[in-house]
Amino acid sequence: MAANTTTYLEIKQQLQSQQVTLVAVSKTKPVSDIQELYDLGQRDFGENYVQELAEKQMLLPNDIRWHFIGHLQSNKVKYIAPFVHLIHGVDSARLLKEINRQAEKGGRIIHVLLQVHIAQEETKFGMDEPELAAALSEAGTLKNISVRGLMGMASFSDKPSQVKEEFRKLHELYQSYRMRQPFDTLSMGMSGDYQLAIEEGSNLVRIGSLLFG
Ligand SMILES: *Cc1c(COP(=O)(O)O)cnc(C)c1O
Repeated sequence: MAANTTTYLEIKQQLQSQQVTLVAVSKTKPVSDIQELYDLGQRDFGENYVQELAEKQMLLPNDIRWHFIGHLQSNKVKYIAPFVHLIHGVDSARLLKEINRQAEKGGRIIHVLLQVHIAQEETKFGMDEPELAAALSEAGTLKNISVRGLMGMASFSDKPSQVKEEFRKLHELYQSYRMRQPFDTLSMGMSGDYQLAIEEGSNLVRIGSLLFG
């Protein structure tokens, strides 16, 4: 296996010119693939599974910024709390409290994104607007958490108009909170829809299969 380095360089250049952060999603990929993109300058990598992330983190350079993008269970926060750069999928006050507790133990501030449910499918994780408001007021009381913005996943749809509409709604929500909160990150867009996401205001995309096959 090997990373698609030509595609990587093209996407990297495009995103740099648009000032969009690229998180290379390396879940299930070998450490050698990650090292290949690291050697080309990539520093932000995303993983979905706690144990896999903890193992890779030990084997790879220390200046990698590790993004946790999966669904995080409260009892596993402790394994990534010492080093994680940004936790994207936070979707409950309970999880926020546990992240805060582990961050406090390690003397860190942990940066998180709150996940909002924007897709039509019922199965995708994320909060609705009232839950988001409640989570943000909870987060305001937690000293070792910094909420940097929102994250969302659009429907698996072949209709660009629907995907765009979902991204547009999340961007509107992000903008409305940005008046009151120090938000700077809107994480939306994956291999199949990142162009649409950027058109709708994303400033961080999470791309896996295009880079790693
Ligand atoms: C796997 C995954 C990605 C990357 O998906 P690709 O379609 O492979 O680019 C992005 N975000 C999340 C939350 C994922 O689980």
